[in-house]
Amino acid sequence: MKGKMKKLFSISENEGMYFDDKHECIELVSCHFDGTNCMAQRALINKKMLTSRRLWLNKNYEHSIAELKSAFYNTEELDQSTCLQCAQLFRSTITRSMENIHGDLQKMTTGLFNIEHYQSDYELATIVLKEFKEVS
Ligand SMILES: [Zn+2]
Repeated sequence: MKGKMKKLFSISENEGMYFDDKHECIELVSCHFDGTNCMAQRALINKKMLTSRRLWLNKNYEHSIAELKSAFYNTEELDQSTCLQCAQLFRSTITRSMENIHGDLQKMTTGLFNIEHYQSDYELATIVLKEFKEVS
């Protein structure tokens, strides 16, 4: 029991160890229900995050952001009584991806690059990121 409690409490402290660095996706190893209760949702969210990442790499920011937003709201479908911490973990990961996209766009639209083409994507990223932070 003691070991299990420790594991639960370490979620926010040690978030990094719960993710697969290669994909920055969610690899949940600590869940009240050993991950069975949120398995389907987790697979769906991971899939959307991977799609988002692929779109991002292709500089398709608009659709990349849309995928993340969709994944973010999937976390609200998780059972709040059993997977509240899982939902928080998902949301913080998705928000971090969103911050990366936002930072990328910021570079593209300011200073040296100043590519006007990405201005609307940057504005979208700013709005969505703000929205995420209000919900989290
Ligand atoms: Zn869970």
